[in-house]
Amino acid sequence: MKKMKVIDLTQPWGMNTPPWPGGKAPTIRYVNMISTDGYSQQEITFTTHIGTHLDGPLHFDPKGRDLASLPMDKLVGEGVVVDVSEVGPYGIYTPKHVTSKVDVKKGDILIIHTGFHKYYANAEEPDEIAYFYKHPGPHREFRDWVAEMKFKWIGVDCGSADHPMNTGLQKLNPIVAKEAEKKLGKPLSEIFPPEMDHMMHHTLFKQPYEIIHVENIGGDIDKVLNKRLIIGCFPLKTIGGESTPCRVVAFLFE
Ligand SMILES: [Zn+2]
Repeated sequence: MKKMKVIDLTQPWGMNTPPWPGGKAPTIRYVNMISTDGYSQQEITFTTHIGTHLDGPLHFDPKGRDLASLPMDKLVGEGVVVDVSEVGPYGIYTPKHVTSKVDVKKGDILIIHTGFHKYYANAEEPDEIAYFYKHPGPHREFRDWVAEMKFKWIGVDCGSADHPMNTGLQKLNPIVAKEAEKKLGKPLSEIFPPEMDHMMHHTLFKQPYEIIHVENIGGDIDKVLNKRLIIGCFPLKTIGGESTPCRVVAFLFE
């Protein structure tokens, strides 16, 4: 058997882990203490899109499968982690940013590295505004290519697989929106017309694609850039579950 390295691609998780802007923050508290009860136990509350998490089919497809129905071969398989960090803040990436660096196969798992994972809470340079509002996002061509490639799932090391200015965040922070417009050199309404809103979510989650997303990937992602690996996402097996925090792990055979 070949030697296997296991690389964690999960962001650490705590009560300061921020939800998507406007969402509810998590809580962690002790409900039993060793001094009182002889053992400790905690109660944790969280909304489902906090930290490294899987957006399951039900997040955007009312007819979709719940988390408990997703088979392991949908969640674990061969794939690539691709570095597109050269695109930079507010930038727009295309399939070429991926295919010029790695061989991608139909049915792979694809993880996009924008470099923005370093801005998440508990990471190197925590900056919630940069993290959620300024990461690069995909061109429409990229969405069409993802559908064609029939990926099992795609992952991003930032808040969304959509460009932040192609989500509700554009209206939530007009100062950032202005900065984005300046950087992109065109009115945002031209680059992201309303019918394209959340395009990576609205079209890809539904059958026949069911290309779901993992958001807020991090951990040791910098160690596996532009590599082919076995990648696994390990979510809660929630009956009726829409999305859930998860662990993402890459297995490298040398
Ligand atoms: Zn999500």
